[in-house]
Amino acid sequence: MKLRFRWAGAGVLIFALQAGAAETVVNDATLSVEGDGSNWLAYGRNYSEQRYSPLDQINTETVSRLGVAWVMELPSDKALVGTPLVVDGVLFFTGSFSVTRAVDAKTGKLLWEYDPKSVEHAGARLRNLWDQNKGLAYWNGKVIISTIDGRLVGLNAKTGEKIWETMTIDPRRAFYITGAPKVFKGKVIIGNGGTEQEAARGYVTAYDADTGEQAWRFWVVPGNPADGFESEAMEMAAKTWNGEWWKFGGGGNTWNGITYDPDFDQLLIGTGNGSPWNQKIRSPGGGDNLFLCSIVALDADTGDYKWHYQTVPGETWDYNSNMDIVLADLKYGGQSIKALMHAPKNGFFYVINRANGELLSAEKFAKATWASHIDLKSGRPVEMAGARYEDGEELVWPSPFGAHSWHAMSYNPNTGLVYIPTIEMPASFKDSGIDLRAFKSPHMNTAVGVEFGTGDTAVDYGSGRLQAWDPIKQAMVWEQPLPPQWNPGTMTTKGNLVFEGRADGRFVAYHAETGEPVWSLELGVGISAPPVTYTVEGKQYVSLLVGWGGAGLIAGSIAAQHGWKYKAHPRRLYTFALDAKQPVPPSPPPVLAMPLDPPEFKVDDALAESGKALYAENCFLCHGGGVVSGGLAPDLRESPIALTLASFKEVVVNGSLAPNGMPRFQEFSDEQASALIHYIRQTARQNLADQRAPK
Ligand code: CA
Repeated sequence: MKLRFRWAGAGVLIFALQAGAAETVVNDATLSVEGDGSNWLAYGRNYSEQRYSPLDQINTETVSRLGVAWVMELPSDKALVGTPLVVDGVLFFTGSFSVTRAVDAKTGKLLWEYDPKSVEHAGARLRNLWDQNKGLAYWNGKVIISTIDGRLVGLNAKTGEKIWETMTIDPRRAFYITGAPKVFKGKVIIGNGGTEQEAARGYVTAYDADTGEQAWRFWVVPGNPADGFESEAMEMAAKTWNGEWWKFGGGGNTWNGITYDPDFDQLLIGTGNGSPWNQKIRSPGGGDNLFLCSIVALDADTGDYKWHYQTVPGETWDYNSNMDIVLADLKYGGQSIKALMHAPKNGFFYVINRANGELLSAEKFAKATWASHIDLKSGRPVEMAGARYEDGEELVWPSPFGAHSWHAMSYNPNTGLVYIPTIEMPASFKDSGIDLRAFKSPHMNTAVGVEFGTGDTAVDYGSGRLQAWDPIKQAMVWEQPLPPQWNPGTMTTKGNLVFEGRADGRFVAYHAETGEPVWSLELGVGISAPPVTYTVEGKQYVSLLVGWGGAGLIAGSIAAQHGWKYKAHPRRLYTFALDAKQPVPPSPPPVLAMPLDPPEFKVDDALAESGKALYAENCFLCHGGGVVSGGLAPDLRESPIALTLASFKEVVVNGSLAPNGMPRFQEFSDEQASALIHYIRQTARQNLADQRAPK
């Protein structure tokens, strides 16, 4: 019955497009099928999250004729990381601070714009993760957006007028939303982030997509047993925790990685890491700590627990499972299995049976030294000695940036390959300097119970690559090097192509079977968003937001080396088509920060040392590790504001740049403000001396 219903859905869609006038109704029927490729209806194009398009006008033969069809200038945007949607020739996208626009997908003409005023609503909470939004949802004539300050807003897709608005978090707490809402069966679901900023207890909430009214909520980790459990699942999960975990929140925030699975009418939730990271604090004595770092299947109507698979039992490295969950029918011998594919931070590629959560296979797709392998019988990782930094400092692959992050992978059912933006990078973990018993979970600043790199990351400390992965053989088929280290998500098409932007500003198409680059164009600023494709009047287009952004930029020099300085390079929405010949608009060359070092400034080393700790807790999430901005926010080494206490206090303590998005830190004393200035000046002086030193 189900299959026939779906075919009927596809038939209706094709008929509607041939008729010309009928509108596409975005609902379960249209989101469940491959369709004809004319629309990009959801974050991963449809419910499968495959980011595969059945369009093939642009293919390995014709792609050399691909050119710029139109460009939309976005002068007030900064970080652009989102996936646009396209419905019946209208392209919808969220830019900086979730400003939402509808654009004629053929011409680039603006149809409407809606500003949810995220900066105003967030206030001091902007210090948690600032400016990034991964995209939006479309359901039955409505566009639904999420905001960094924690709201969902339903807009009329025709006019951009607000229909409803719902607050999804407690605004007194340090939660935020960067992820795209996902729709299913008349509902919209969203999680949040905040594991690093709060005594956070993660959850996801489903709302009525037409009204914003709450339908159900699923908590990821158990609360205090004395308060009673919300469900049997929480009672079960509590047995895997020790100590007084609820005082630290526990974590598990679901900031990305939610997939609706129409085959089993279930939501697949990719859950977050522990709060704090260090399990010795969170759950002394160990335990699996369910449902951290898991895929949890929930009943779509009730939010009730169905099954789970945990990728990292007892997590202690920030190896969350918030990466996208991709659905496919995979053939094993003669048998077709309704599987999910998942390549989380921890470096293993998982294939799981969606019927019951059974692990089918798991292999390393990147260097991972925390575990030797996944035991297929128990489904559990076999950890390496020392990986839990139990013997002091330990260098572990991957880093908390992950072997793969939220930059979506794509799956091409024709090649049978998954295209994964991969990061190779270790991190050093140690907790010997931390008083584990005295640890207090923070509020609105960063403390994770591990001494890990909030300093600068050297330009060659990690690398990036695009790889094609065979999910059945669990083996790499081809790879192409990418510039370090933060490269965006991929898209693949029936034209036998894979498209991906790069950190260095180049947009590239690869042959999907061989990995050979077959087309590319320099777009003048680092690319952090994945492309989409669609048709208008039968012609295929490819669209891409171009603007450097995302949390990987906090790494410092490794991100700064590309020269995409804050606000120095234009942000744009590009659209490409065959035989289109618009020029690429000019963009200034890459530019590196020029640290200021007034010789009369006398650095107090002790003050600078306390400034370093303050910086790591409060500033590095936007301004970058070791005071080296990766481009997300101004580089403080060259900012004249950080030269005197008066100017520094005016901005940081009094909040004079709050309307621009610089949050207030009214709690800083004069000594703390001074300490930060001394640390910034000391770092600038040291960096200049290093530059002058003979190599
Ligand atoms: Ca995390």
